[in-house]
Amino acid sequence: MSQHYDKVSVPEEGEAVTLVEEGADELDVPDHPVVPIIYGDGIGVDVGPAAQSVLEAAAQATGRDISWMRVYAGESAREMYGENLPDDTVEAIREHRVAIKGPLTTPVGSGFRSLNVALRKKLDLYTNMRPTYHLEGVPSPVTNPGAMDMVNFRENTEDVYAGIEWEAGTDEVEEVRSFVEDTMGFDDTIHEGPVGIGIKPITEFGTKRLVRKAIDYALENGRDSVTLIHKGNIMKFTEGQFRDWGYEVADEEYGDDVITEDTLWEERDGEQPENTVVVNDRIADNMLQQLLTRTDQYDVLAMPNLNGDYLSDAAGAQIGGLGIAPGANIGDGRILAEPVHGSAPKYAGQDKVNPCAIILSGRIMLEYLGWENAADLVRDAVENTISSGTVTYDLERQIEGGTKVATSEFAEAVVDEIDRLA
Ligand code: NAP
Repeated sequence: MSQHYDKVSVPEEGEAVTLVEEGADELDVPDHPVVPIIYGDGIGVDVGPAAQSVLEAAAQATGRDISWMRVYAGESAREMYGENLPDDTVEAIREHRVAIKGPLTTPVGSGFRSLNVALRKKLDLYTNMRPTYHLEGVPSPVTNPGAMDMVNFRENTEDVYAGIEWEAGTDEVEEVRSFVEDTMGFDDTIHEGPVGIGIKPITEFGTKRLVRKAIDYALENGRDSVTLIHKGNIMKFTEGQFRDWGYEVADEEYGDDVITEDTLWEERDGEQPENTVVVNDRIADNMLQQLLTRTDQYDVLAMPNLNGDYLSDAAGAQIGGLGIAPGANIGDGRILAEPVHGSAPKYAGQDKVNPCAIILSGRIMLEYLGWENAADLVRDAVENTISSGTVTYDLERQIEGGTKVATSEFAEAVVDEIDRLA
Protein backbone atom coordinates (compact mmCIF):
# COMPACT_ATOMS: atom_id res chain seq x y z
CA MET A 1 0.00 0.00 0.00
CA SER A 2 1.38 3.42 -0.90
CA GLN A 3 2.39 5.62 2.06
CA HIS A 4 3.12 8.85 0.24
CA TYR A 5 0.30 10.88 1.78
CA ASP A 6 0.53 13.16 4.84
CA LYS A 7 -3.07 14.31 5.07
CA VAL A 8 -5.13 11.15 4.62
CA SER A 9 -5.57 7.98 6.72
CA VAL A 10 -3.98 5.21 4.69
CA PRO A 11 -5.34 1.69 5.41
CA GLU A 12 -2.94 -1.20 5.89
CA GLU A 13 -4.64 -3.54 3.48
CA GLY A 14 -6.16 -3.37 0.03
CA GLU A 15 -5.06 -2.37 -3.45
CA ALA A 16 -5.84 0.58 -5.68
CA VAL A 17 -8.30 0.21 -8.56
CA THR A 18 -6.33 0.81 -11.77
CA LEU A 19 -7.01 1.10 -15.49
CA VAL A 20 -6.72 -2.07 -17.57
CA GLU A 21 -4.81 -0.01 -20.10
CA GLU A 22 -3.62 3.59 -19.91
CA GLY A 23 -5.93 5.88 -21.85
CA ALA A 24 -8.88 3.43 -21.79
CA ASP A 25 -11.93 3.67 -19.54
CA GLU A 26 -11.98 0.05 -18.38
CA LEU A 27 -11.07 -0.63 -14.75
CA ASP A 28 -8.95 -3.40 -13.26
CA VAL A 29 -10.76 -3.99 -9.95
CA PRO A 30 -9.11 -6.06 -7.19
CA ASP A 31 -11.37 -8.05 -4.82
CA HIS A 32 -10.20 -5.89 -1.94
CA PRO A 33 -9.89 -2.31 -3.21
CA VAL A 34 -8.96 0.78 -1.25
CA VAL A 35 -11.78 3.32 -1.52
CA PRO A 36 -11.21 6.91 -0.36
CA ILE A 37 -14.13 8.39 1.60
CA ILE A 38 -14.84 12.01 2.58
CA TYR A 39 -17.45 12.17 5.34
CA GLY A 40 -17.91 15.88 4.63
CA ASP A 41 -19.61 18.60 6.65
CA GLY A 42 -22.79 18.73 8.74
CA ILE A 43 -24.67 15.43 8.53
CA GLY A 44 -21.72 13.83 6.70
CA VAL A 45 -20.49 12.49 10.06
CA ASP A 46 -23.82 10.66 10.46
CA VAL A 47 -24.41 9.31 6.96
CA GLY A 48 -20.76 8.55 6.05
CA PRO A 49 -20.24 5.74 8.58
CA ALA A 50 -23.74 4.40 7.81
CA ALA A 51 -22.80 4.06 4.14
CA GLN A 52 -19.49 2.41 5.00
CA SER A 53 -21.12 -0.33 7.07
CA VAL A 54 -23.75 -1.12 4.40
CA LEU A 55 -21.35 -1.11 1.43
CA GLU A 56 -18.81 -3.19 3.33
CA ALA A 57 -21.51 -5.72 4.22
CA ALA A 58 -22.62 -5.99 0.58
CA ALA A 59 -18.99 -6.43 -0.55
CA GLN A 60 -18.33 -9.14 2.06
CA ALA A 61 -21.60 -10.93 1.28
CA THR A 62 -20.41 -11.27 -2.33
CA GLY A 63 -16.90 -12.51 -1.53
CA ARG A 64 -15.01 -9.21 -1.55
CA ASP A 65 -14.01 -6.48 0.87
CA ILE A 66 -13.39 -2.74 0.95
CA SER A 67 -10.58 -0.91 2.80
CA TRP A 68 -11.63 2.67 3.49
CA MET A 69 -9.13 5.47 3.17
CA ARG A 70 -10.35 8.49 5.15
CA VAL A 71 -9.61 11.67 3.22
CA TYR A 72 -10.58 15.16 4.31
CA ALA A 73 -12.27 18.22 2.86
CA GLY A 74 -14.31 21.09 4.29
CA GLU A 75 -14.49 21.74 8.02
CA SER A 76 -12.62 18.59 9.10
CA ALA A 77 -9.74 19.49 6.75
CA ARG A 78 -9.73 23.09 8.03
CA GLU A 79 -9.54 21.86 11.63
CA MET A 80 -6.81 19.32 11.00
CA TYR A 81 -4.70 20.98 8.34
CA GLY A 82 -5.84 24.60 8.08
CA GLU A 83 -6.99 24.20 4.48
CA ASN A 84 -10.33 23.38 2.85
CA LEU A 85 -9.19 20.95 0.22
CA PRO A 86 -5.72 19.42 0.77
CA ASP A 87 -3.89 18.32 -2.37
CA ASP A 88 -3.53 14.86 -0.77
CA THR A 89 -7.33 14.46 -0.83
CA VAL A 90 -7.51 15.22 -4.53
CA GLU A 91 -4.48 13.04 -5.29
CA ALA A 92 -5.82 10.08 -3.26
CA ILE A 93 -9.07 10.13 -5.25
CA ARG A 94 -7.16 10.61 -8.51
CA GLU A 95 -4.91 7.64 -7.73
CA HIS A 96 -7.59 5.26 -6.40
CA ARG A 97 -10.17 6.13 -9.10
CA VAL A 98 -13.26 5.07 -7.12
CA ALA A 99 -14.34 7.16 -4.12
CA ILE A 100 -17.39 8.36 -2.19
CA LYS A 101 -18.16 11.59 -0.37
CA GLY A 102 -20.76 13.16 1.87
CA PRO A 103 -21.93 16.76 1.50
CA LEU A 104 -19.71 19.85 1.82
CA THR A 105 -21.05 23.20 3.00
CA THR A 106 -20.77 26.18 0.66
CA PRO A 107 -21.70 29.52 2.26
CA VAL A 108 -23.93 31.74 0.07
CA GLY A 109 -22.33 35.03 -1.09
CA SER A 110 -18.80 35.85 -0.03
CA GLY A 111 -16.36 33.28 1.36
CA PHE A 112 -14.68 30.46 -0.48
CA ARG A 113 -15.93 28.97 -3.73
CA SER A 114 -17.70 25.62 -3.70
CA LEU A 115 -15.41 22.72 -2.77
CA ASN A 116 -17.74 20.39 -4.66
CA VAL A 117 -17.23 22.38 -7.83
CA ALA A 118 -13.46 22.48 -7.16
CA LEU A 119 -13.29 18.69 -6.72
CA ARG A 120 -15.30 18.04 -9.87
CA LYS A 121 -13.11 20.40 -11.87
CA LYS A 122 -9.74 19.27 -10.48
CA LEU A 123 -10.57 15.61 -11.14
CA ASP A 124 -12.37 16.39 -14.42
CA LEU A 125 -15.48 14.53 -13.25
CA TYR A 126 -17.48 15.98 -16.08
CA THR A 127 -20.70 14.02 -15.68
CA ASN A 128 -23.02 14.25 -12.71
CA MET A 129 -25.20 11.15 -12.94
CA ARG A 130 -28.34 11.07 -10.84
CA PRO A 131 -30.59 8.02 -11.18
CA THR A 132 -34.15 8.68 -10.03
CA TYR A 133 -36.22 5.59 -9.31
CA HIS A 134 -38.87 4.74 -6.75
CA LEU A 135 -38.34 2.27 -3.91
CA GLU A 136 -41.39 0.38 -2.69
CA GLY A 137 -42.66 1.84 0.57
CA VAL A 138 -41.16 5.32 0.18
CA PRO A 139 -43.88 7.97 0.59
CA SER A 140 -44.15 10.44 -2.29
CA PRO A 141 -46.21 13.58 -3.03
CA VAL A 142 -47.36 12.16 -6.40
CA THR A 143 -49.99 9.51 -7.00
CA ASN A 144 -47.84 7.19 -9.10
CA PRO A 145 -44.21 7.50 -8.00
CA GLY A 146 -43.39 4.14 -9.64
CA ALA A 147 -43.73 5.83 -13.06
CA MET A 148 -40.42 7.59 -12.41
CA ASP A 149 -37.35 5.69 -13.60
CA MET A 150 -34.97 8.22 -15.09
CA VAL A 151 -31.24 8.72 -15.14
CA ASN A 152 -30.12 12.35 -15.27
CA PHE A 153 -26.77 13.22 -16.83
CA ARG A 154 -25.82 16.73 -15.79
CA GLU A 155 -22.75 18.44 -17.27
CA ASN A 156 -20.49 19.10 -14.32
CA THR A 157 -17.68 21.49 -15.32
CA GLU A 158 -19.07 24.45 -17.25
CA ASP A 159 -22.16 26.67 -17.70
CA VAL A 160 -22.75 29.40 -15.07
CA TYR A 161 -21.16 27.00 -12.54
CA ALA A 162 -17.73 27.45 -14.13
CA GLY A 163 -16.99 30.05 -11.46
CA ILE A 164 -16.20 32.87 -13.91
CA GLU A 165 -17.90 35.78 -12.14
CA TRP A 166 -17.14 39.22 -10.76
CA GLU A 167 -18.46 40.87 -7.62
CA ALA A 168 -20.46 44.12 -7.73
CA GLY A 169 -18.39 47.19 -6.86
CA THR A 170 -15.01 45.79 -7.99
CA ASP A 171 -12.77 47.25 -10.68
CA GLU A 172 -12.92 43.92 -12.48
CA VAL A 173 -16.69 43.93 -12.88
CA GLU A 174 -16.58 47.51 -14.20
CA GLU A 175 -13.94 46.44 -16.71
CA VAL A 176 -16.16 43.58 -17.87
CA ARG A 177 -19.16 45.93 -18.04
CA SER A 178 -17.29 48.39 -20.23
CA PHE A 179 -16.06 45.54 -22.48
CA VAL A 180 -19.63 44.28 -22.89
CA GLU A 181 -21.13 47.73 -23.45
CA ASP A 182 -18.43 49.60 -25.35
CA THR A 183 -16.52 46.91 -27.22
CA MET A 184 -19.30 44.37 -27.82
CA GLY A 185 -22.05 46.95 -28.33
CA PHE A 186 -24.61 45.82 -25.71
CA ASP A 187 -25.00 49.40 -24.57
CA ASP A 188 -28.61 49.38 -23.32
CA THR A 189 -28.60 45.96 -21.73
CA ILE A 190 -27.18 46.29 -18.21
CA HIS A 191 -28.96 48.64 -15.76
CA GLU A 192 -27.01 51.54 -14.23
CA GLY A 193 -25.54 51.05 -10.74
CA PRO A 194 -23.86 48.09 -9.04
CA VAL A 195 -23.90 44.84 -11.00
CA GLY A 196 -22.58 41.30 -10.53
CA ILE A 197 -21.62 39.56 -13.79
CA GLY A 198 -21.06 35.87 -14.53
CA ILE A 199 -20.12 34.06 -17.73
CA LYS A 200 -21.87 31.00 -19.12
CA PRO A 201 -19.46 28.92 -21.21
CA ILE A 202 -20.95 25.92 -23.03
CA THR A 203 -18.33 24.25 -25.22
CA GLU A 204 -18.59 21.73 -28.02
CA PHE A 205 -16.05 19.54 -26.17
CA GLY A 206 -17.93 19.68 -22.83
CA THR A 207 -21.32 19.08 -24.44
CA LYS A 208 -20.29 16.23 -26.69
CA ARG A 209 -18.49 14.18 -24.05
CA LEU A 210 -21.50 14.52 -21.71
CA VAL A 211 -24.02 13.54 -24.39
CA ARG A 212 -21.79 10.59 -25.35
CA LYS A 213 -21.84 9.37 -21.73
CA ALA A 214 -25.65 9.59 -21.70
CA ILE A 215 -26.09 7.76 -25.04
CA ASP A 216 -23.54 5.08 -24.10
CA TYR A 217 -25.38 4.51 -20.82
CA ALA A 218 -28.74 4.26 -22.64
CA LEU A 219 -27.38 1.73 -25.14
CA GLU A 220 -25.60 -0.36 -22.50
CA ASN A 221 -28.63 -0.45 -20.20
CA GLY A 222 -31.39 -1.04 -22.75
CA ARG A 223 -32.97 2.38 -22.30
CA ASP A 224 -35.24 3.69 -25.09
CA SER A 225 -34.45 7.40 -25.24
CA VAL A 226 -32.08 10.23 -24.42
CA THR A 227 -33.65 13.67 -24.06
CA LEU A 228 -31.54 16.83 -24.40
CA ILE A 229 -32.88 19.46 -21.98
CA HIS A 230 -32.07 23.08 -22.83
CA LYS A 231 -33.34 26.64 -22.87
CA GLY A 232 -32.11 27.21 -26.41
CA ASN A 233 -35.15 29.26 -27.40
CA ILE A 234 -33.76 32.11 -25.24
CA MET A 235 -30.04 31.34 -24.83
CA LYS A 236 -29.43 30.44 -28.46
CA PHE A 237 -25.63 30.48 -28.51
CA THR A 238 -25.15 28.47 -25.32
CA GLU A 239 -28.10 26.18 -24.60
CA GLY A 240 -29.18 26.19 -28.26
CA GLN A 241 -25.68 25.03 -29.17
CA PHE A 242 -25.90 22.36 -26.46
CA ARG A 243 -28.92 20.93 -28.28
CA ASP A 244 -27.30 21.17 -31.73
CA TRP A 245 -24.00 19.61 -30.61
CA GLY A 246 -25.96 16.91 -28.81
CA TYR A 247 -27.78 16.02 -32.03
CA GLU A 248 -24.46 16.05 -33.89
CA VAL A 249 -23.11 13.33 -31.56
CA ALA A 250 -26.29 11.30 -32.09
CA ASP A 251 -26.16 11.72 -35.89
CA GLU A 252 -22.46 11.24 -36.47
CA GLU A 253 -21.15 8.71 -33.95
CA TYR A 254 -23.61 5.84 -33.47
CA GLY A 255 -24.74 4.72 -36.94
CA ASP A 256 -28.13 2.98 -36.88
CA ASP A 257 -28.04 2.42 -33.10
CA VAL A 258 -29.29 5.93 -32.47
CA ILE A 259 -32.08 7.74 -34.32
CA THR A 260 -33.63 11.13 -33.79
CA GLU A 261 -37.27 11.61 -32.85
CA ASP A 262 -37.86 13.35 -36.22
CA THR A 263 -36.51 10.33 -38.13
CA LEU A 264 -38.60 8.01 -35.97
CA TRP A 265 -41.80 9.74 -37.06
CA GLU A 266 -40.88 10.81 -40.60
CA GLU A 267 -39.32 7.54 -41.75
CA ARG A 268 -40.57 4.83 -39.38
CA ASP A 269 -44.07 5.88 -38.45
CA GLY A 270 -43.15 5.98 -34.75
CA GLU A 271 -41.97 2.32 -34.68
CA GLN A 272 -38.70 2.19 -32.75
CA PRO A 273 -36.42 -0.68 -33.87
CA GLU A 274 -35.18 -2.96 -31.07
CA ASN A 275 -31.90 -2.13 -29.35
CA THR A 276 -31.92 1.46 -30.55
CA VAL A 277 -32.01 4.73 -28.67
CA VAL A 278 -34.13 7.67 -29.78
CA VAL A 279 -32.67 11.13 -29.16
CA ASN A 280 -35.07 14.04 -28.72
CA ASP A 281 -35.01 17.40 -26.99
CA ARG A 282 -37.25 19.42 -24.69
CA ILE A 283 -37.13 23.00 -23.46
CA ALA A 284 -36.26 23.05 -19.76
CA ASP A 285 -39.40 24.75 -18.40
CA ASN A 286 -41.65 22.42 -20.40
CA MET A 287 -39.60 19.47 -19.16
CA LEU A 288 -40.16 20.47 -15.53
CA GLN A 289 -43.91 20.08 -16.03
CA GLN A 290 -43.55 16.93 -18.16
CA LEU A 291 -41.66 15.36 -15.26
CA LEU A 292 -44.98 15.38 -13.44
CA THR A 293 -47.47 14.94 -16.25
CA ARG A 294 -45.74 12.43 -18.57
CA THR A 295 -43.27 10.87 -16.18
CA ASP A 296 -43.07 7.42 -17.75
CA GLN A 297 -42.16 8.74 -21.21
CA TYR A 298 -38.66 9.78 -20.19
CA ASP A 299 -35.64 7.57 -19.67
CA VAL A 300 -32.25 9.25 -19.79
CA LEU A 301 -31.89 13.04 -19.69
CA ALA A 302 -28.76 14.98 -20.74
CA MET A 303 -28.44 18.62 -19.78
CA PRO A 304 -26.20 21.57 -19.01
CA ASN A 305 -25.11 22.13 -15.41
CA LEU A 306 -27.76 24.50 -14.03
CA ASN A 307 -30.76 22.80 -15.68
CA GLY A 308 -29.44 19.49 -14.37
CA ASP A 309 -29.16 20.77 -10.82
CA TYR A 310 -32.75 22.04 -10.71
CA LEU A 311 -34.30 19.23 -12.66
CA SER A 312 -32.73 16.38 -10.70
CA ASP A 313 -33.86 17.87 -7.36
CA ALA A 314 -37.40 18.22 -8.73
CA ALA A 315 -37.32 14.62 -10.00
CA GLY A 316 -35.93 13.51 -6.63
CA ALA A 317 -38.88 15.08 -4.83
CA GLN A 318 -41.26 12.84 -6.81
CA ILE A 319 -39.65 9.67 -5.53
CA GLY A 320 -39.42 10.66 -1.88
CA GLY A 321 -37.12 13.65 -1.48
CA LEU A 322 -33.53 14.46 -0.73
CA GLY A 323 -33.09 11.79 1.92
CA ILE A 324 -33.34 9.18 -0.85
CA ALA A 325 -31.79 10.78 -3.97
CA PRO A 326 -28.37 9.35 -4.99
CA GLY A 327 -25.74 10.63 -7.42
CA ALA A 328 -22.21 10.23 -8.71
CA ASN A 329 -19.62 12.41 -10.44
CA ILE A 330 -18.03 10.47 -13.27
CA GLY A 331 -15.05 11.21 -15.52
CA ASP A 332 -13.04 8.93 -17.77
CA GLY A 333 -12.20 5.89 -15.63
CA ARG A 334 -12.97 7.69 -12.36
CA ILE A 335 -16.00 8.08 -10.08
CA LEU A 336 -16.77 10.09 -6.94
CA ALA A 337 -20.18 9.01 -5.67
CA GLU A 338 -22.15 11.57 -3.63
CA PRO A 339 -25.73 12.11 -2.51
CA VAL A 340 -27.80 14.92 -4.04
CA HIS A 341 -28.50 16.48 -0.63
CA GLY A 342 -26.38 19.04 1.21
CA SER A 343 -24.92 19.17 4.71
CA ALA A 344 -28.22 20.06 6.49
CA PRO A 345 -26.24 21.71 9.36
CA LYS A 346 -29.22 21.87 11.74
CA TYR A 347 -29.20 18.06 12.01
CA ALA A 348 -25.41 17.59 12.15
CA GLY A 349 -24.16 14.95 14.58
CA GLN A 350 -27.66 14.03 15.81
CA ASP A 351 -27.72 10.51 14.33
CA LYS A 352 -31.09 11.43 12.88
CA VAL A 353 -31.10 11.94 9.11
CA ASN A 354 -31.73 9.44 6.36
CA PRO A 355 -28.55 7.73 5.05
CA CYS A 356 -30.33 6.20 2.00
CA ALA A 357 -29.06 8.84 -0.44
CA ILE A 358 -25.39 8.17 0.28
CA ILE A 359 -25.96 4.40 0.57
CA LEU A 360 -27.63 4.38 -2.86
CA SER A 361 -24.83 6.62 -4.20
CA GLY A 362 -22.54 3.84 -3.00
CA ARG A 363 -24.68 1.46 -5.01
CA ILE A 364 -23.74 3.41 -8.18
CA MET A 365 -20.10 3.10 -7.09
CA LEU A 366 -20.46 -0.69 -6.73
CA GLU A 367 -22.01 -0.86 -10.23
CA TYR A 368 -19.08 1.15 -11.56
CA LEU A 369 -16.72 -1.42 -10.01
CA GLY A 370 -18.66 -4.09 -11.90
CA TRP A 371 -20.00 -5.59 -8.64
CA GLU A 372 -23.58 -5.88 -9.90
CA ASN A 373 -24.62 -8.53 -7.36
CA ALA A 374 -23.40 -6.38 -4.44
CA ALA A 375 -25.16 -3.34 -5.92
CA ASP A 376 -28.43 -5.28 -6.26
CA LEU A 377 -28.12 -6.50 -2.67
CA VAL A 378 -27.83 -2.91 -1.45
CA ARG A 379 -30.90 -1.80 -3.37
CA ASP A 380 -33.01 -4.79 -2.29
CA ALA A 381 -31.96 -4.50 1.35
CA VAL A 382 -32.72 -0.77 1.49
CA GLU A 383 -36.09 -1.33 -0.19
CA ASN A 384 -37.04 -4.19 2.13
CA THR A 385 -36.03 -2.23 5.21
CA ILE A 386 -38.13 0.78 4.21
CA SER A 387 -41.06 -1.43 3.17
CA SER A 388 -41.02 -3.04 6.62
CA GLY A 389 -41.67 0.44 8.08
CA THR A 390 -38.22 0.89 9.62
CA VAL A 391 -37.39 4.45 8.56
CA THR A 392 -35.70 7.68 9.64
CA TYR A 393 -37.61 10.80 10.74
CA ASP A 394 -38.13 12.24 7.24
CA LEU A 395 -40.08 9.22 5.99
CA GLU A 396 -41.69 8.35 9.32
CA ARG A 397 -43.53 11.70 9.39
CA GLN A 398 -45.15 10.80 6.07
CA ILE A 399 -46.23 7.19 6.66
CA GLU A 400 -48.65 5.68 9.09
CA GLY A 401 -47.45 3.02 11.48
CA GLY A 402 -43.74 3.41 10.69
CA THR A 403 -41.01 2.90 13.28
CA LYS A 404 -38.70 5.91 13.56
CA VAL A 405 -35.05 4.89 13.91
CA ALA A 406 -31.73 6.73 14.09
CA THR A 407 -29.31 6.92 11.13
CA SER A 408 -27.06 4.25 12.66
CA GLU A 409 -30.02 1.98 13.50
CA PHE A 410 -31.31 2.22 9.95
CA ALA A 411 -27.88 1.22 8.65
CA GLU A 412 -27.78 -1.74 11.07
CA ALA A 413 -31.21 -2.86 9.84
CA VAL A 414 -30.00 -2.71 6.22
CA VAL A 415 -26.87 -4.71 7.10
CA ASP A 416 -29.05 -7.35 8.81
CA GLU A 417 -31.21 -7.50 5.69
CA ILE A 418 -28.12 -7.91 3.47
CA ASP A 419 -27.02 -10.83 5.67
CA ARG A 420 -30.51 -12.34 5.43
CA LEU A 421 -30.68 -11.97 1.62
CA ALA A 422 -27.12 -13.13 0.90
P1 NAP B 1 -29.69 20.37 2.38
O1 NAP B 1 -28.48 20.33 3.22
O2 NAP B 1 -29.82 19.32 1.34
O3 NAP B 1 -30.95 20.32 3.36
C1 NAP B 1 -32.22 20.79 3.02
C2 NAP B 1 -33.30 19.95 3.69
O4 NAP B 1 -33.43 18.72 2.99
C3 NAP B 1 -33.04 19.55 5.13
O5 NAP B 1 -33.36 20.57 6.03
C4 NAP B 1 -33.95 18.33 5.24
O6 NAP B 1 -35.32 18.76 5.23
C5 NAP B 1 -33.75 17.67 3.88
N1 NAP B 1 -32.63 16.72 3.89
C6 NAP B 1 -31.38 16.86 3.34
N2 NAP B 1 -30.66 15.77 3.53
C7 NAP B 1 -31.43 14.89 4.20
C8 NAP B 1 -31.24 13.57 4.69
N3 NAP B 1 -30.08 12.90 4.51
N4 NAP B 1 -32.26 12.98 5.38
C9 NAP B 1 -33.41 13.61 5.55
N5 NAP B 1 -33.66 14.85 5.11
C10 NAP B 1 -32.68 15.49 4.44
O7 NAP B 1 -29.80 21.78 1.62
P2 NAP B 1 -29.40 23.25 2.07
O8 NAP B 1 -29.89 23.49 3.47
O9 NAP B 1 -29.87 24.11 0.98
O10 NAP B 1 -27.83 23.27 2.05
C11 NAP B 1 -26.98 23.17 3.22
C12 NAP B 1 -25.53 23.25 2.74
O11 NAP B 1 -25.22 22.13 1.93
C13 NAP B 1 -25.20 24.48 1.90
O12 NAP B 1 -23.95 24.98 2.31
C14 NAP B 1 -25.09 23.95 0.48
O13 NAP B 1 -24.20 24.68 -0.32
C15 NAP B 1 -24.55 22.55 0.75
N6 NAP B 1 -24.83 21.59 -0.34
C16 NAP B 1 -23.84 20.70 -0.61
C17 NAP B 1 -24.06 19.73 -1.58
C18 NAP B 1 -22.95 18.76 -1.85
O14 NAP B 1 -22.03 18.64 -1.07
N7 NAP B 1 -22.99 18.02 -2.94
C19 NAP B 1 -25.29 19.65 -2.25
C20 NAP B 1 -26.29 20.57 -1.93
C21 NAP B 1 -26.06 21.54 -0.96
P3 NAP B 1 -36.27 18.87 6.53
O15 NAP B 1 -35.59 19.82 7.47
O16 NAP B 1 -37.53 19.41 5.94
O17 NAP B 1 -36.45 17.52 7.10
